[in-house]
Amino acid sequence: MAMPRKVKKIPKISVNRAWCKACGICIAFCPKKVLDPDDEHRPLPARPEDCSACRLCEFMCPDFAIEVDGGDGE
Ligand code: SF4
Ligand code: SF4
Repeated sequence: MAMPRKVKKIPKISVNRAWCKACGICIAFCPKKVLDPDDEHRPLPARPEDCSACRLCEFMCPDFAIEVDGGDGE
């Protein structure tokens, strides 16, 4: 019998726009290129399905303005 395919969980990426100063660090360091800048240069999770939930964006953000929940991790 075939094993059921594992469905990848898509992480939830939240940006606190009040705290974000639009420095672009998270966008530059995301190894999966998940984030695109919006009109104000703040990160938009444009490709959340590519996110590995590595949380590098969280660690690199100097203002604690981005948070990643869930996903399978890698
Ligand atoms: S958790 Fe990792 S892969 Fe996902 S958006 Fe942040 S830096 Fe990119
Ligand atoms: S690193 Fe933090 S402050 Fe800088 S753009 Fe990303 S979320 Fe905003």
